[in-house]
Amino acid sequence: MTKHILILAGDGIGPEVCREAERIINWLTKQGRAKFTVSHALIGGCAYDETGNPFPNETLEAARKADAILLGAVGGPKWEALDYAVRPERGLLGIRKELELFANLRPAVVFEELADASSLKRELVAGLDIMIVRELTGGIYFGQPRGVDTLPDGTKKGYNTLVYTTPEIQRIARVAFDLAGKRNGRVCSVDKANVLESTELWRQEVQKIHDAEYPNIALSHMYVDNAAMQLVRNPKQFDVMVTTNMFGDILSDCAAMLTGSLGMLPSASLGAKQANGRQHALYEPVHGSAPDIAGQGKANPIATILSLAMMLRYSFNMAAEADLVENAIKKVLADGIRTGDIMQSGMKQVGTSEMGDAILRAME
Ligand code: NAD
Repeated sequence: MTKHILILAGDGIGPEVCREAERIINWLTKQGRAKFTVSHALIGGCAYDETGNPFPNETLEAARKADAILLGAVGGPKWEALDYAVRPERGLLGIRKELELFANLRPAVVFEELADASSLKRELVAGLDIMIVRELTGGIYFGQPRGVDTLPDGTKKGYNTLVYTTPEIQRIARVAFDLAGKRNGRVCSVDKANVLESTELWRQEVQKIHDAEYPNIALSHMYVDNAAMQLVRNPKQFDVMVTTNMFGDILSDCAAMLTGSLGMLPSASLGAKQANGRQHALYEPVHGSAPDIAGQGKANPIATILSLAMMLRYSFNMAAEADLVENAIKKVLADGIRTGDIMQSGMKQVGTSEMGDAILRAME
């Protein structure tokens, strides 16, 4: 069956890294391993320049129709003075909201060859493979009421609301348990149930879903302060971690840094399964538009290509092809080929398209 991929390359290095991922999509089609069609649309600063809107309606329509979306990055100094309502980042928030992408998957994988790039000791991180599942559309970032009020005495009060409902917790818990079932069968749910009632509810609901639907998965609970400590003390104890929007925001960046390089980190954001079996899904590298190296052919395309591998695995059930892409990347790293951001002495430094060439050669 033909699958349609929408590419939203965005700004800065976005188009450069997406180009390399598109070559791999085309290769898979040429090899007869799948039939992909690809289209492109605007998002972020480039969309604002062209249409006055960082998330034009045509892009939303194209996103709704696509079987999966690959996004590069948005933003850059050119658009920093714009009003918040039309900033490139509104494009990202807009697409997450419109497609209701509530589950953010952030793997932190340390390739053997890059273990020395971590700020932690090699033995703590070599072979690390954890998946952080962050709730993305609820919690304190969206809860009402919110704001800053001026009080009668002239001082101010700032406030936000941490709110979660049973269905919101249950659907993200299921995502985590399903993933663990395909990995090493362990979920650690992270909360602050000792002081926050809404995360006490979180803990109860996660436990309920576990007991009723996933008794074969090993579930543990951890307070967020301890989880932050454990991530840098002994990260390999984790398989899948599931947590709220804000805790996930912080812990996933912390876990990312265990791997040493932004240019290596993929992510996925998944929506709910619809009645017709379809599920919106957006795949993107964790890094930004890297304006300091944009247009110079220096960007590392691996994070974007690993995001494509996640798409093959989660949207298209193509585990063999996802393995093929990931193993090709391992081989290229083992062969000593590096972009500037992951360069080590004695290795061969290459640019964006040469890295794409090397990965395609390894796949062949
Ligand atoms: P950044 O991730 O763009 O860059 C941080 C540093 O990492 C830079 O030195 C950059 O050169 C380097 N880097 C990042 N990706 C790389 C890659 N693939 N290969 C080699 N080096 C890479 O973060 P920033 O500088 O804080 O932000 C720049 C712009 O990107 C801002 O406008 C920001 O708002 C935006 N941003 C967008 C996203 C997104 O689209 N999801 C995420 C973060 C930041």
